[in-house]
Amino acid sequence: MDTVNGEKKKKIIKTIKIDVDKCNGCRACEVICSAFHAEPKYSSNNPARSRIKVIRDPLRDIYIPVYAGEYTVAECAGRDKYIIDGKEYDECAFCRASCPSREDFKEPDSGLPLKCDMCEGEDEPLCVKWCLADALIYEEREEEVEEEETLEELEVGLESLASKYGLQELKEALARLSQQG
Ligand code: SF4
Ligand code: SF4
Repeated sequence: MDTVNGEKKKKIIKTIKIDVDKCNGCRACEVICSAFHAEPKYSSNNPARSRIKVIRDPLRDIYIPVYAGEYTVAECAGRDKYIIDGKEYDECAFCRASCPSREDFKEPDSGLPLKCDMCEGEDEPLCVKWCLADALIYEEREEEVEEEETLEELEVGLESLASKYGLQELKEALARLSQQG
């Protein structure tokens, strides 16, 4: 999309409202998300590759779906604990970031960050379609936003690799790959 910095433009904001009370922890959302993003599509399903994670603690009747958000290179300096209706939740429980201090939202083989892309190309997110309990509700709204450049998925992955291995090593690896190709 062609854009000019500083201009306002209309943008469709896609959100998924989560009704925690309705989630029963079935994990169908994790299964379909990982299958949709498998290469080739639907060739496998592995919840570890899902961009939605369900916090499950059946003994305390806790089921909370959390979507993978932005990648971050630094972990938080301080962390919060939440007590809701008398139930205590772990420090990083609600955080959506793929972060160096935990394994959540990372592709298990490569360690690359995972981020929900709202099932790009589909008319409705598949996790929403597959949630028979109606715990996930898809919503769209239009907003005027300041134009800004956002990192594409490929750039996010490269940034993460550069932070893990160093920019020079990444450049050398890319050079070697391009020679092989
Ligand atoms: S599919 Fe729905 S009910 Fe099942 S775990 Fe996911 S959000 Fe919860
Ligand atoms: S919207 Fe699509 S990409 Fe995002 S968590 Fe749901 S199934 Fe995965």
